[in-house]
Formats: sequence, C-alpha cells, structure tokens
Amino acid sequence: MSQLMELREQLVLASKRAYHRGIQTGSGGNVSARIPGREQMLVKASGSSFEDSTTDGFIVTDFDGILVEGAGKPTREALLHGYLYRICPWIGAVVHVHSPYAIGWASTGKPLPCLTLHAQLKLRTDIPTLDIPSPMVRTEDFPLIRKMYENHPELPAFLLVDHGVVAVAKDAINAEHTAELIEETAQIAYLKAIAKKLEL
Ligand SMILES: [Zn+2]
Repeated sequence: MSQLMELREQLVLASKRAYHRGIQTGSGGNVSARIPGREQMLVKASGSSFEDSTTDGFIVTDFDGILVEGAGKPTREALLHGYLYRICPWIGAVVHVHSPYAIGWASTGKPLPCLTLHAQLKLRTDIPTLDIPSPMVRTEDFPLIRKMYENHPELPAFLLVDHGVVAVAKDAINAEHTAELIEETAQIAYLKAIAKKLEL
C-alpha cells in the first residue's frame, strides 16, 4: 500500500471513531495528516461528515489550505492545521472536534486540568484554553498559537472557547485518542466539581 493510501486509511479510521465515540456530530470538525516530505496535507473536504468518511473524501492542500488535488472544497479551518505543521515538525496529524464537555469546560476560559493518573501519563500537562472570537482560527491568531508552542513544544492539545478541541499527534489515530481523552477529562472535571459542591 502506498504511504498516501495508508494516511488516508488512518484518517478514515480516526474520523469514524470520533463520530462513533460521540465527539463529533454532523459535518463539523476536521481531521488532517501531513504528507511526509512535502509542504502539503491531506484534509477532510468541507461539508462532509466524519461518519461518511472514505479514502477519496480527503483532499490534498498546501499549508495555506489551497487545493492541490482532489474533489471538494478545503475547509477554512485547514489554515490552522497547516500552521501547526509549519511550526511543529513533529506533528503528523491534527484532529479538531466540537465535543460538548470540552467546549463546556472551555467556556470557563480556564485550562483543563489533568485530573486522572491516566491523563497525567498521556497528556503530561494541563490543556490550555485560547479565546479566539471567530468560528475558525485566523492568521492574526497565529502569534498566539506560536507562543503557546514555544512555551510547550510538545503540547498534545488545546481548547478553543465556544468552539472545540484541537488535538495533535504523530498520526491521526493517536490524535483522535487524545481528543477522546480530552473529552473524558472534561467530563471528569465536571463530575469532580459536582461531587465537591455536593460535599459527597
Ligand atoms: Zn471547528
């Protein structure tokens, strides 16, 4: 199997898993993978659902989100994916989802704490929350992203206020696992807060 097809299959698997885990509904969210050796990425076409992902459903764009190959329109959220690949050579895939508990937590503006031993082991750091008042991260927001990665070069994820989660990893499967773990951690953050409030 070609390397490109292997990447496409990982993207399909990650997308379907995210849908079935309930961390992305409808046509929201985005998944992408860096194409090794090129300033290009495979990214989900705008308007398609994670659930209906196929290997042909991922288009090739450059890091500015400009279409290079494939049928479909690149999402404007692809700009952020490309920027992350540009500034962090170790990132091989990005999974962006609008998962409800994580968005609920992000509305506090606080970082998501690593509450469980498993999260501490996997995430190794609290997950920062960025307040970007736009449905997509814009070029003018890039300095904020760059500064965050200068401070935490291996940061596995970050939250966007009223928007969602951005999880990164060496491949799409691992990035999706991180997105799941963020959602689970956000659920636990609420349960802990409720238990404390009820003085259980
Ligand atoms: Zn989004």
